[in-house]
Amino acid sequence: MIHANGKRVLLDCGMFQGRRKEARKLNLTFGFDPNRVDAVVQSHAHIDHCGKLPLLVDCGFQGKIHATHGTQDLCAILLRDCAHILLRDALYLSKKRMKEHARKRKLARRQMREVHDFIDYKAELDVGKIPRPIAPLYLKEDVEEAMKRFKPHRYGEWFQACDGMRFRLHDAGHILGSAWVEAEITEGSRSKRLVFTGDYGRSGAPLLRKPQPLVAADIFLAESTYGDRLHPPFKGMRDGLAAAVQRLAQRGAGKLLIPAFAVGRTQDLLFHLGQIFKNGEAPTVPVYVDSPLATEATGIVRKHREYFNQSALDALNGNGGESFALLPGAHFVESANESKALNHHKEAMIVISASGMMEQGRILHHLIHALPREDCELLVVGYQAEGTLGRRVIEGADEVRILGETVRVKARVENMTGFSAHADRNDLLNALTPHAGSAEVLFLVHGEDDQRNSLADEFRSRGFSRVEMPQMDQSFNL
Ligand SMILES: [Zn+2]
Repeated sequence: MIHANGKRVLLDCGMFQGRRKEARKLNLTFGFDPNRVDAVVQSHAHIDHCGKLPLLVDCGFQGKIHATHGTQDLCAILLRDCAHILLRDALYLSKKRMKEHARKRKLARRQMREVHDFIDYKAELDVGKIPRPIAPLYLKEDVEEAMKRFKPHRYGEWFQACDGMRFRLHDAGHILGSAWVEAEITEGSRSKRLVFTGDYGRSGAPLLRKPQPLVAADIFLAESTYGDRLHPPFKGMRDGLAAAVQRLAQRGAGKLLIPAFAVGRTQDLLFHLGQIFKNGEAPTVPVYVDSPLATEATGIVRKHREYFNQSALDALNGNGGESFALLPGAHFVESANESKALNHHKEAMIVISASGMMEQGRILHHLIHALPREDCELLVVGYQAEGTLGRRVIEGADEVRILGETVRVKARVENMTGFSAHADRNDLLNALTPHAGSAEVLFLVHGEDDQRNSLADEFRSRGFSRVEMPQMDQSFNL
């Protein structure tokens, strides 16, 4: 939050993600009064950056949410999806609470019976209050309210968010519509420039442009997600994908199953497959996208080709009648029944489905079907966090539990890394080092301490006179 001239502007309003219970606790409050926030400037549509906007509005925020057109459109589908997940989580936690209460009552009743078998153990037992169901953090209705507050902007266009603060969004190359934020803050005769990286992207993405270089500023607020890590080069995705398609065509049956994030990775895959088929790098096979969210996201990406890089535009321009379809002829599966029916198809096919870490969604029933089959292949193209089903599979588990079933792993499992949409350590160093001499202060945010500590040291050695690693709710007077 930037506070100047008695006005307050939020940079992003994200949701904590992680273990249900801990995340819920962190997400319930803001640490500030939403009524007193004058505007939000939104960098991009990932839930860890926008997930609490509906709650902010529900709690009394009256202002506008400034973002790019692409971010606005993606926020609409991602926040609706988030509301759905929150509802499901609240039901799960409520049921768990009720079960725990029932268990305690039963236990208390048994103990009473053992000790005082002369009393009527059927009497009402006081084992604490009957728990109330847990309400979801927000509802779909709150999402619709939040969406009404959006004010879209083009890259490079100045806008006044409130008195004394004007902003400009620049292409961050991270996901469709993503931006880094430039702010000009004036208080009386003093004026400061602030740059917030949002999530900073990488060069070489198949569809998006590379991130625009950061401008000079007095204050930098930089992400540090991969502050101590290097990614393998971006290229290689297409070759790995083409090789997997060739293996599938050679088998002539079974599935090539690709779990993928609905936004970003799915569209990159479709684009690459389109090019692979067009150029004859592998035989053409049917491709099914089986995730309602991915289908919606693909529609939005296709609509916003103003965000594409030139070589993607050139490549897509010739896609015949279906101009700007990422992959002409791709099948987008709608209903759950249609999705299940794919299991009975005999032909060789590619199925792209979510979630990317194989924790939920339609990918689960595809895994149950495909993992025990030697004529199937699982191609993993995204980061698999510790503790996820995806991680267990790539670590070579012989069998896994999915939806209560034990599933043998006989299918080939291929793990391709290097497709992160985040800047790595070198990308961050390259982006910020040119401003080391002129910046007053650099704040490192959005990274675990193990990632930002060593990055902070490196920035200091490269000439940043002041590098801060703020804690939650900490404030600085500049
Ligand atoms: Zn992001």
